[in-house]
Amino acid sequence: MGRITLDKVSKRFGDVEVIPPLDLTIEDGEFTVFVGPSGCGKSTLLRLIAGLEDTTSGQIRIDSQDATHVPPAKRGLAMVFQSYALYPHMSVRKNIAFPMKMAGVPEDEQKRRIEAAANALNLTDYLDRRPGQLSGGQRQRVAIGRAIVREPSAFLFDEPLSNLDAALRVGMRLEISELHERLKTTMIYVTHDQVEAMTMADKIVVLQAGVIEQVGSPLELYHEPRNKFVAGFIGSPK
Ligand code: ADP
Ligand code: MG
Repeated sequence: MGRITLDKVSKRFGDVEVIPPLDLTIEDGEFTVFVGPSGCGKSTLLRLIAGLEDTTSGQIRIDSQDATHVPPAKRGLAMVFQSYALYPHMSVRKNIAFPMKMAGVPEDEQKRRIEAAANALNLTDYLDRRPGQLSGGQRQRVAIGRAIVREPSAFLFDEPLSNLDAALRVGMRLEISELHERLKTTMIYVTHDQVEAMTMADKIVVLQAGVIEQVGSPLELYHEPRNKFVAGFIGSPK
């Protein structure tokens, strides 16, 4: 399960309210994209859900349990960053195994999950390499593999493809979409790229200065943008 509910959640850094109180529901199994210009609060919102930032006010529920003050490792979510955050001295296999080792998953079960993840991500031939011996796309797949083996109730992606060149990005978008088809696990995907949002999302959340301007499917946003900002940002003719 992976239904996530934000109830009047806000975030303040010092005197600056980066996220005024907002409500948002992400349904189980949905692919939701947070989109908006740089600095609008996408990462902050994702980090609040992940528990990497404390909320200033409001409540976060994961599968109807109050998760507002639950530490990140206990929320059952897995985050994938732009910077991969792999351990350079460890093999791909060990990088993928690491979170399971920390969680005390038995060795044979670790092996089974590593094989399944490597299979799903075309990494079978690379398990004994180190991150430095991989391309950017392969590194990002390792980072995704490390998220998959935790069997999270939701995946949180923060601009995972923005370090990759344009051609590679298209392929990785498809891979992530296929992964979502296969796993049917809730995914929240942050990007400032309208094309990514329009092609990958079941539901798009358009943010501007920490405020949700509109929530809807790509078609809804395209055909019925609520205002000029959404229209302009989505590239709608309206
Ligand atoms: P985005 O991911 O959409 O580019 P962020 O969520 O990173 O935006 O940032 C939203 C706003 O919050 C920005 O104005 C940023 O400078 C500010 N901000 C983010 N993190 C911190 C922090 N730790 N301390 C102070 N301000 C922050
Ligand atoms: Mg960001």
